[in-house]
Amino acid sequence: MLAYKAYCFDLDGTVYRGKMGIESAVQFIHHLQRQGIEPYYLTNNSSKTRETLQQLLKSVGIEAPLHHIYSSSLATAKYVATICKNNKVNVVGEAGIRTALLEEGLEITEEQSDVLVMGIDRQISYEKLVKASAYIQNGAKLIGTNEDIKFPNENGFAPGNGSFVHLVSNVAGVTPLFIGKPSPVMLQIIADEHQFKKEEMVMIGDNYDTDILCGIHFGCDTIHVNTGVTPTEIVKQQAQLPTYCVENLIELLK
Ligand SMILES: [Mg+2]
Repeated sequence: MLAYKAYCFDLDGTVYRGKMGIESAVQFIHHLQRQGIEPYYLTNNSSKTRETLQQLLKSVGIEAPLHHIYSSSLATAKYVATICKNNKVNVVGEAGIRTALLEEGLEITEEQSDVLVMGIDRQISYEKLVKASAYIQNGAKLIGTNEDIKFPNENGFAPGNGSFVHLVSNVAGVTPLFIGKPSPVMLQIIADEHQFKKEEMVMIGDNYDTDILCGIHFGCDTIHVNTGVTPTEIVKQQAQLPTYCVENLIELLK
């Protein structure tokens, strides 16, 4: 059995798929909790608040404390608060990113601002994309909560935030900045807020390009689990390999 202090789990494709829990992951998390280890949860999903993510975890049988749940919205809001000059931001996105920005003391405006934050918006429309493209062409900096092109759902894959941010950046001819995984920002926040050393932490996820690279960029151990986006055979072709590759998390209990 592994002996880390901070087990950092991706959510979509690692702990659940759509509304369905991944049984092996749920069992592994229950096992950790019985040992007195309370895991951390990191999601690139920007649409949901900490409270909503907590409810989602509860619905698949996992009790998680609020302060162990981190989203790309939270990390993005903390970053934007440090760079935004007039405290006003343009936003495309749902409750998760809006709440996080407001909680950092920022004001959401429809007038031209110097920052446009884009998170997944399931009410996205052509009109919203036209407006977003105009903000950027008029000088706003383009910040995406996360670069995920797609995410797993019950029927395969659905378009992720990265698909829409790239659409806007292509129209405006700029390079966006992304805050979610594979950027190490969320792991760094966990390390800082809960005082872990890198060697005490492990990042667990299904997506090589986000979860595994996030851990590698941060400098902690990583576990790839073959229950979501990146198949193990593709992971094994990469130049930088995860510390462990497993079919499912039950293997780690053996
Ligand atoms: Mg995932």
